This record gives sequence, structure tokens and C-alpha cells, in this order.
Amino acid sequence: MGLDDHTINRRSVLVGGSVAAAGLVASSLAGQAGAAPRQDADVIVVGHGLAGLVAASELAAAGRSVIVVDQESRANLGGQAHWSLGGLFFVNSPEQRQCQIRDSIELARADWFGSAGFDRKPHDRLGEDYWARQWAESYLNFAAGEKRSWLERKGVRWVPVVGWAERGGTSASGHGNSVPRFHMTLGTGPGVVEPFRNAVLDGERRRRISFRFRHRVDEMITDGGRVTGVRGKKLAASNAPRGVKSNRTVVGDFELRAPITIVASGGIGANHDLIRQNWPSRLGTPPKTMVTGVPAHVDGRMLAITEAAGGRIVNRDRMWHYTEGLKNHSPIWPDHGIRVLGAPSSMWFDAEGNRFDSPAIPSYDTLETLAMIKRTGYDYSWFVLNKKIISKEFILSGSEQNPELTRKDLVAYLASRALDDVPKSVQKFVDKGVDFVQARSVDDLVRKMNRLAGSDLVDAGKLRAQIVQRDRQVHNPFTKDPGVMGIHNSRNYLGDNIVRTVEPHPILDPAAGPLIAIRMNILTRKTLGGLQTNLSGQVMNDGGTPVPGLYAAGEASGFGGGGVHGYNALEGTFLGGCLFSGRAAGRAAARATS
Ligand SMILES: Cc1cc2nc3c(=O)[nH]c(=O)nc-3n(C[C@H](O)[C@H](O)[C@H](O)COP(=O)(O)OP(=O)(O)OC[C@H]3O[C@@H](n4cnc5c(N)ncnc54)[C@H](O)[C@@H]3O)c2cc1C
Repeated sequence: MGLDDHTINRRSVLVGGSVAAAGLVASSLAGQAGAAPRQDADVIVVGHGLAGLVAASELAAAGRSVIVVDQESRANLGGQAHWSLGGLFFVNSPEQRQCQIRDSIELARADWFGSAGFDRKPHDRLGEDYWARQWAESYLNFAAGEKRSWLERKGVRWVPVVGWAERGGTSASGHGNSVPRFHMTLGTGPGVVEPFRNAVLDGERRRRISFRFRHRVDEMITDGGRVTGVRGKKLAASNAPRGVKSNRTVVGDFELRAPITIVASGGIGANHDLIRQNWPSRLGTPPKTMVTGVPAHVDGRMLAITEAAGGRIVNRDRMWHYTEGLKNHSPIWPDHGIRVLGAPSSMWFDAEGNRFDSPAIPSYDTLETLAMIKRTGYDYSWFVLNKKIISKEFILSGSEQNPELTRKDLVAYLASRALDDVPKSVQKFVDKGVDFVQARSVDDLVRKMNRLAGSDLVDAGKLRAQIVQRDRQVHNPFTKDPGVMGIHNSRNYLGDNIVRTVEPHPILDPAAGPLIAIRMNILTRKTLGGLQTNLSGQVMNDGGTPVPGLYAAGEASGFGGGGVHGYNALEGTFLGGCLFSGRAAGRAAARATS
């Protein structure tokens, strides 16, 4: 069934003068004999995160009336994206070319499909990967095409040095970015949100858009299989600052009606129960202990609510959690964890002090490393490094961890990366983080590691021997050590050479000390599966046709199609997935309500 089959004549639906010239009116005709059902707006958007804001801004630009419903307060506008690092995946960008990176859509497609591994009937209309694969094709064209220029026209700019995330490292045809593609936004996450936030606030001023903050959707209203609105509970006002868990005190009921509802409610990253319930056996048993990389509102409730209205959820077992999570010394949300974006010089050991094999090298292969950690039977691992390495190779994910970049001060940011001193936000973790220990000798380091873990799992002699073996390789350009090969590979790339990777040196070199060990926790973050959507963002039912009146975007839709990433992500693709799927759903919903 094509989009046109669902096109709704605005006047035929929004009868009874329910849309005022200004935009919104709740006509409340329900209950009157013979009256058409009440309509409160052309479109309801559930969720004021990036995907919801993009969809709403497209709708307002097309002259539609929109109600944006969110369980959180206005202080949380922008959702997770506000907290994000603002890394965006572009293909063959001017920044890449300036850094002498040769990228192409063909290379990016090979990387994406090698990472995704779409294997759930991608060519069968009812297959879980049917729409996911098509979204991947479309998204790649977007990332290699208008994504950058569209954002640039909206005033978004990027750090000229492109980052190299998720390198894979096992084969040319397998997972990973063959070239650097992670473009950090000037302004980090808030910089990505800004133009859409401004457009939506402008829509509010022009009375095209209205908000219902502290409104929690508990149910979708359906009528003969068509979704016609949402109902739920009004929550008590909250003064909680952005990101801080808010109360769930119910103070009333609400009900809103519109011909189209777009679900942009995010993923399941703060709901450890749902994560464990859907945990894939290929990653071992679900972790008992995890830190949480997202605010508490990423609770996943809307997925089951949308499913109850006929929406199909696919690829539930695909998720993206990190293996380099630190307990935040100043938590904002419950169990707040911060992810380290490392580079190859740190050595990675399991809880018993055995060095991991490739590809457990910082910045290489997130989920394979997670599987390797889970195979050890422990939920944590160790980085062992020294001060020289941490000074240059650690970036902490999050807008609040990168203040220079968040305030768009590129000079201060590059200076903080290029100078030898440990960046201030990293130093705070070294000083105050509960996962860090430092020492001048391996014996002392191991004593502190064991004290931190509350066990005697790590043996100093064994750990030292492994570090010495690695250190013997650092001045060998033909090394057989995969970690050291990784350093050479990094330094072949101009950007990493300048700001991200230290020159090869022995970890035990006293001049590079003190030694540092960091307990790395599993950190929850992204949901790769979700509501299955076609390329217009319409949510599919189990029979492979769109549920009338129901659209989805962002993480709730697995960033498009119910799993555009397949099994593995190339990074910087989540914000981009919100932009692309939010735009597609907003534009399609605008067409459908013309
Ligand atoms: C620290 C951090 C760093 C990140 N860095 C990057 C990066 O560099 N690059 C990248 O690509 N991605 C990054 N991400 C991921 C990216 O930010 C998110 O995947 C994305 O912002 C999700 O946006 P969304 O709009 O789909 O959902 P969300 O931002 O989660 O918004 C969903 C909204 O829906 C509301 N909601 C949910 N259920 C209900 C309900 N029942 N009723 C009413 N409202 C409801 C929630 O309150 C919330 O406001 C990062 C994320 C974090 C947290």
C-alpha cells in the first residue's frame, strides 16, 4: 500500500472549525450527536527529542498544526541529543578531503553492509530486515549527499579534524569504518539540536506548534484499526534540571486526537530490565551490572504501547552498548555512566588480568569486545595505560564533558587536545572517578586494582610480563602486536597523528608515568531495533502493511525501518538517523494531511 492510499484530506478530517486560522484548536466536538470526531491538531508527535523536533519542524514548515507531547518538562527539550557528543557520519565530506581521507559512497556502502550483516529476510516483504536494508541504502545516500549541506544551510559546522570511530579490524569485508567518518559538531549535541529547536520554538510562537509537557502517553487511541490519537496521564510539574530523573506523580488524565501520530519516543537504554529481557545470546548472558549512558526518560515504554495499537517491533535483540563505561563522579541521572572514546595505545585486559586478543583494541569493535568480555564471566574489564596516553587519547562522550566544543570554541578545543596536559574533564575522572587507580610501579598498581575490585584476581607478575612483551614491540615498525599495529595505523592518518594518538612508547617508561588502570564497565546506550517503518516512516503491522495514522522516527524506529544499522553501527549514525527519519516522517505526514 502506497502513501497515497493513506493521504488524508485535511478539511475532511479536521471538520467543525477545529483548526483555527492560527493553527490549533481543540474543538471537543466528541459527544455531540452526529458531530465528527474531535481533532486537536493535524499531527501529534510523541517525544521532544531530536527526531520529534525534526518531524515537528518539517510539519510546521509545511503549514501543519502539531502537538508535541512529552513526559518531561520543557527543560529537557532535545532529549538525549542534548547530552550527545554531536558526532555525525558523513561520506566524502570536505573535512575528510582536507584530512586527506579518500572516501566514497561505494566504500561506505561496503562498510555499512559489512557491519550490518542484514540476514533476516532482507528481500522478503515480511522479513525483519526488509525495510531496514532499504533505509540503509537511503541513509547512505543522505550521508554522502545532502545531509551535510542541509545542516550547513541551517548554520551547523564541524571540527575540521575527522574522528576515526569503530574501525572494526577483523577483515576488509566485515565490520568497521575503513576510513575516518566521525565529524564532531561545533556545539556538540546542543549544536545539532539548535536549528530544529529554534524552528519548533518559532512554530510555537506562530501557534503552529503547541507543547504538552509532563504528559505521559499510556495508550494509543484506535478506531477501526486506525490510530486517531493518544491518551495518558498528566504528571505533576517538575523543577528537576535537565537530565535529572523527574517525578511520576499523576495529577490528571488527558486525551488528544489527530489523524496522524508520530512516535519519536527514543529507545530502551535506561530500562535495564528491558535490556536484559531482549539481550542476545550471541553477546553471552545479560550483564548483572551496567552503568547507564542515557537519562531515565529513555524508558522504552512507548514501544509496547505502540505495539498494542498494531505496530510491529522487529530486531528487538539488536542493541548497542559500550564496553568503556566510567561511573560518573558527578552523576546527573541514576547510575550515570560516561563513555570513553579511546585510541589504540591503552592495553585491554579482562578482570583476571589476561590481555584480550584483537579486536579488543580501543576504538575497534564495540560489540565483539562486549562479547569477549561477557565470555570471561565478568561484567567489567581493565584498561592499563599511563599519563602520556590518557593526555592525548581519551575523549569523554557527552556535551557536558567537552565544554570548549559545546560553547563552539574550536581554538580552545584543539588546544586542549594538542597540548600535552590531560584535558580538564578527563583529569577530574582521574582525580575523583571511582574506577581509576594510579601508581608508579606495576606491583602497586595491581594492589590498587585488586583492592578496587575487592578480589585478588590480577597477578602482578603476569600483568607485568604482558606489558613488557607489548613494550618490546613499540619501536618495531613491522610489529606483530595488533595493538601496536593499531598505533602505527592511527598515526598514518594525519588527524589522529596530530590530536589523538601518542607516538609509540613503552607503557612502563617512567617518564610517561604514572601508570593508570581503569575499571571499564558496560554502559547501556542505543537501541538498534524497534518499530518497523517504511521509507515514509509509516509503522508496519504484522501483515506488512502500514498501520493507518501511525508513524515513527528516531531511536523508537531503530533509527528507521526498525534497524537501519543491522547488527553493528559505524558511529555518528544515531543523530543522523534521527535527522533523516524525523525528516522523512514529518514530510510524509505533512503530505498525508494536505
Ligand atoms: C551521552 C550521549 C552521547 C551520544 N553521542 C552521540 C553521537 O556523538 N553521535 C550520535 O549519532 N549519537 C549519539 N548519541 C545518541 C543519540 O543522541 C540518541 O540516539 C538520539 O538523540 C535519540 O533521539 P530520539 O529523538 O530518538 O529519542 P530521545 O532523545 O530519547 O527522545 C525521546 C523523548 O520521548 C519522550 N517519551 C518517551 N516515552 C514517552 C511517553 N510514553 N509519553 C511521552 N513522552 C515520552 C522522552 O521523555 C524523550 O523526551 C548519544 C547519546 C548520549 C546519551
